[in-house]
Amino acid sequence: MANQEDIFRKVISHAKEYGYVVQSSEIYDGLSAVYDYTQNGAELKKNIKEYWWKAMVQMHENIVGIDAAIFMHPTTWKASGHVDAFNDPLIDNKDSKKRYRADVLVEDHVAKIEAKIDKEVQKASKRFGESFDKTQFLTTNPRVLGYQEKAQSILKRLGRSLEAEDLEDVKNLIEELEIACPVSGSKNWTDVKQFNLMFGTKLGASAENATDLYLRPETAQGIFVNFLNVQKSGRLKIPFGIAQIGKAFRNEIVARQFIFRMREFEQMEMQFFIKPGTQIEWYEKWKELRMKWHLSLGMGEENYRFHDHEKLAHYADAATDIEFKFPFGFKELEGIHSRTDFDLGSHEKYSGKKLQYFDPELNQNYVPYVVETSIGVDRMFLAVFSNSLKEEELENGTTRIVLKLPAVLAPTKAAVLPLVKKDGLPEIAHKIIDDLKWDFNVVYDEKDAVGRRYRRQDAAGTPFCITVDHQTLEDETVTIRYRDTMEQKRIAIGAVNETIADEVGIRKWLKKTE
Ligand code: ATP
Repeated sequence: MANQEDIFRKVISHAKEYGYVVQSSEIYDGLSAVYDYTQNGAELKKNIKEYWWKAMVQMHENIVGIDAAIFMHPTTWKASGHVDAFNDPLIDNKDSKKRYRADVLVEDHVAKIEAKIDKEVQKASKRFGESFDKTQFLTTNPRVLGYQEKAQSILKRLGRSLEAEDLEDVKNLIEELEIACPVSGSKNWTDVKQFNLMFGTKLGASAENATDLYLRPETAQGIFVNFLNVQKSGRLKIPFGIAQIGKAFRNEIVARQFIFRMREFEQMEMQFFIKPGTQIEWYEKWKELRMKWHLSLGMGEENYRFHDHEKLAHYADAATDIEFKFPFGFKELEGIHSRTDFDLGSHEKYSGKKLQYFDPELNQNYVPYVVETSIGVDRMFLAVFSNSLKEEELENGTTRIVLKLPAVLAPTKAAVLPLVKKDGLPEIAHKIIDDLKWDFNVVYDEKDAVGRRYRRQDAAGTPFCITVDHQTLEDETVTIRYRDTMEQKRIAIGAVNETIADEVGIRKWLKKTE
């Protein structure tokens, strides 16, 4: 495959062509940064959510799940800090009239410096061959060290100025780095301004009595306001967690990376309530557990990295991102935040209700501290989908497009194919489907030559093809073909269910998170 942009374009068109994702309201030319999941996408998304929910709720005795409303009392967002501080710094280019997030412009500039480091590594690795020691190179090569220092000092300064809300310095930084607008190429920038990302709406029939509401920008607050309801009704003891999956809405300034940055999206969040003073220990623990969850899907250890925050959000005392190598580079996939007692403490103040836990061991009340894990379903979808899409050169000189989705997440687990449309083969294929459908999503496909059908299923991400042929009539065996290796085996019809279950069963995959 060619360059990053080409790969990303292929990901987007494949998602549409194979029934995964399309732009919302496409017949009306679409709605910017809003997407619909079509038949296969809906299944993949559901499987991602299930994989997360089971790993978090089912596998942890002390984590429970809830489903809170999208609308919340407006004071919630005063208390959480979102009304005052949920802003992004925006900047306009005066020539192209395009709007950008000022911090993203700077971060993209840093990414270019990082790309130079990668290039140096590639060059040196070619030059030194087998004896190349990457770690040594990265820590001693003067040019690389120079780039690293430059990248770090830019990010530090950006972090400092954003934290101090020194927007003038953010603009100075953009000018000093001579960052140009990618569209007009000009460096003619406006001042940097803050922009609140929450969507407002109204509750009530008449305009005069309507209450201003917000569509929630994160699911976490639904957990905080229910903290005592859940703790008391479940008689939960600290440490314990509350998990939730649900929609969130943000009026993103720039949203042009497909489902990476959407205006309506879904989050999977877990707030872990702990004793004050134990937050660093739990923060480290959740970093480890969440990384294991990602690695269990087998998408390559080299595609993940932690990125600790320089600039901390208004609620956090430590924060890191799990970054994933998307087609456009390493970007945030999940956030892990030590949120202290900020949220519960603030809701106590604004609501006038006590939100405290009685610790029977200490014989005292306190407002618990919180460590949060927060991942976007859609970003996870993009990570899985883009990482799985491969173009392979085959021995016979042809190429095949294959979507190597982790089998546990694949929308359809098997396709059952009669070799020909006669001689009773379709009937047997339907009988096999009638048995498999109790356990798995399966499809029937009889159109075109069997080779073409295999390719179609490869591209759709189906891990198994089961082919019924004339030998099946004699000995009740079928051919099972594995998507990733293209290996074909003859097995008894009676063994098909178990063979599929062995590969797609969630138990086998979740075991790897242990
Ligand atoms: P970013 O810096 O990319 O804007 P964030 O730091 O604001 O993200 P959080 O508030 O930590 O993100 O949200 C937690 C998770 O929710 C993110 O890691 C991401 O996976 C997901 N997420 C956030 N904003 C969006 C969005 N606009 N579209 C899709 N997913 C999102």
